[in-house]
Amino acid sequence: MCTETLIDQGAEAKVFKGSFLGIPCIIKERFLKKYRHPMLDETLTHQRLVTEVRAMVRARKYGVECPALYFVDPVKHKIYMEYITGVTLDKFLNEAVTRRSVSKEHVFEGTLSTHCNKCPSKEHLTCSSLSQMAKKIGQSLAKLHNSGCIHGDITPCNILIRFPETEFENGIDAKSMELLTVYIDFGLSFMSSMAENRAVDLYVLERALKTYMKAFPVFTRVLLEEGYFPHVSQSQAVREKLVEGKKIEIKKKRNIYNTF
Ligand code: AMP
Repeated sequence: MCTETLIDQGAEAKVFKGSFLGIPCIIKERFLKKYRHPMLDETLTHQRLVTEVRAMVRARKYGVECPALYFVDPVKHKIYMEYITGVTLDKFLNEAVTRRSVSKEHVFEGTLSTHCNKCPSKEHLTCSSLSQMAKKIGQSLAKLHNSGCIHGDITPCNILIRFPETEFENGIDAKSMELLTVYIDFGLSFMSSMAENRAVDLYVLERALKTYMKAFPVFTRVLLEEGYFPHVSQSQAVREKLVEGKKIEIKKKRNIYNTF
């Protein structure tokens, strides 16, 4: 019998680790909301599922790393997808912050044994370059935006750092390993090529990364300037919208302070 282990529960869905035709997989099950009218609830839940599946297919078509789709059960609102061995970017960065292990060249020499259940605890995974990772995240986001898709909820929790387990198991030098970044959770995505919507994606990600700015001041800059902007179409318009959005936010904050 196939066992499913609950690994996460959000407001919309439960995420299980299970298997599909003998392959380890993630099962994302959207649950019904009792406070909504059953017909409306069914329609909305189904729409979110379809949105997520379509966006994942589109993302892969345009070369954005995201889990491979195995099976979709529209009746039980379940998506079966590839299980990514790795950690979320927030856990990865937290670990790096805790270990305070960034050299002058912004090279991260930290260890990540605790988060990778495949790795024996005494073994250490070493990441060659944190800025390389930031650049990749930016490049992937540019590809996603160029495909006409807006993610809608880009936070470090929705970016996975994939560990190349076979290379690790074969004992290849950890320093030479490339850690891949994988986008997940496309449930709030939508189609748009408007610079404003792209800028909102960037703004959300930048804000979420602020927590780590002190430890890794270059992370966001590299992500945007070396990863995202050189590869996205309409880059100047997106840049302008991002600056504009930040100015509005600062003004709003000032107004709040002035009312006290
Ligand atoms: P989500 O609801 O899609 O944001 O997923 C919630 C959490 O489940 C994520 O933060 C990850 O820790 C984990 N998760 C989701 N999808 C995958 C996947 N394909 N592989 C591994 N872990 C995943």
